[in-house]
Amino acid sequence: MRKYVIMGVPGSGKSTQSTMLSREYDLVQISVGDVFRWHVKNHTKIGAQVRRVMAAGQLVGDDLVERIVRDRLDQHDWNYGFIIDGFPRSRRQAEFFLESYDIDGVIYLDLPDSEVRRRVLARRLCSVCGMDYNLIEDRPKRPGFCDVCGGELVTREDDTPEALATRLHDYHEKTNPVLELFRRKEFVFVIDARRDPEAVQREIRDRLGLDGRHPVRPLEEDDSARPD
Ligand code: AMP
Repeated sequence: MRKYVIMGVPGSGKSTQSTMLSREYDLVQISVGDVFRWHVKNHTKIGAQVRRVMAAGQLVGDDLVERIVRDRLDQHDWNYGFIIDGFPRSRRQAEFFLESYDIDGVIYLDLPDSEVRRRVLARRLCSVCGMDYNLIEDRPKRPGFCDVCGGELVTREDDTPEALATRLHDYHEKTNPVLELFRRKEFVFVIDARRDPEAVQREIRDRLGLDGRHPVRPLEEDDSARPD
């Protein structure tokens, strides 16, 4: 059983790296941001609650976030473990998490803010299957449309310069202390996220001490970054 948390500024590759890891090691991939985006897209009550907050790049309240995480993990379908992305993002969330679960490692994807802006503002998302693209490094074959399902590519509502500034500010103010809290327990692996996704993945596996029998494959067309 392996239980990991993956942290890093927006655009540092959390979703890509979690997908690569979960695919090879049968981990359940949980992305709180994806859960909220699903609610917004499907016009649920939760979606109505979080839509504006998310579009402005602000953090959703801790109570709701904790409920989402608890409900997901209570499903107990993670026989081989899980990797959770985008959580915890505040001290309170971290304390809640540490009280309820032991984790085997925190993967911290380290990326300078200047690189974050370049990556995030070029990011596009398939409106149907959620696959991530980047207009600089990872363009779709047909401009504007998803290679996997043909869906239209859109910009995330919070990938604007204004919302990104808020997200980065919150990250440094609220999420960095979480990292400090974890660091005291000495299981944080800091990974340089400036390199290509496969190199980052290799280092993650190496540092976590995972066996080398699983190949590091780039994300294929059938592997859209779709956490539950
Ligand atoms: P992400 O896809 O991880 O960048 O998350 C997108 C948005 O979802 C964030 O900007 C927040 O509005 C919300 N969100 C995701 N995870 C959390 C969390 N742990 N705490 C508070 N808000 C969150």
